[in-house]
Formats: sequence, structure tokens, C-alpha cells
Amino acid sequence: MKTCTVCSANESDQAAFCRTCGTAFASASAQPTPAPGYPLQPYQGAPQRKYQALRTIALAYKTLAVVAGAVAVLVAIQLVAALSDRPSSAIVSLLMTLGLGAIFVVTLFAASEGIEVVIDIEENTRRVADRLGAP
Ligand SMILES: [Zn+2]
Repeated sequence: MKTCTVCSANESDQAAFCRTCGTAFASASAQPTPAPGYPLQPYQGAPQRKYQALRTIALAYKTLAVVAGAVAVLVAIQLVAALSDRPSSAIVSLLMTLGLGAIFVVTLFAASEGIEVVIDIEENTRRVADRLGAP
């Protein structure tokens, strides 16, 4: 005789399920096996750095963004100086140069950060996989 752990109904020792509530009775052959990767392995240190080319490109984008920003400011200054006798043209040129320059700089920075985010996600995924002992 054994007793259901859920509803306390009595069942025979051979019963695989509780006839009252349907709970499966654990048998010696049905021990839960730990999920693969458990117990967790100790952290093995920083994973190998991959995608060196992408990292270089990300850095180049950032450098380019700084240069582009500086060039835009220089061009804007030159335009204002060249168009000092036509103030309305100078203002329009200034705004367009700085606006386009800002868009260019922000786009380059975003592309650079985007590359780094993807690399970080990949590295993090690999780190987790290492910890879980996945092949
Ligand atoms: Zn039961």
C-alpha cells in the first residue's frame, strides 16, 4: 500500500498512477536525471576573442565618426567665412553642413556600437554555453 502525495488516496504498491487524481507515482527506475550541463561547471575565464576584423571595423567607424565631425565643423567655419557678405546663405549652409555632419557622425557611431553589441552577444552566448558544458 502506498499513499498519493497529492490527494492522500491509498493505492496498491503496483499502481503507477493515482486513480483519484492521476498523479504518477515515482518508481525506482524513474529517477529524474539531471539536465545536461548540470551541475554547473566553474567559470573557465574569458572566452577566446573572435571577430577581430569586425572589432577593427567598429573602431575604424568610431575614428571616422570623430574625423567626420571635425571636418564638418571645419567646413562649416569655412562656409561662414566665405559667405560672410550673404548672412542668409551663410546660415543655411551652416545648418546643412552641421546637420548632415551630425547625421553622418551618429550613423557611424551607431554602426560601430551595433557591431560591438553583436560581438558582445555572441561572446556572452558562448560564455553561457561554456558554463553549461554544452559541446
Ligand atoms: Zn492522488
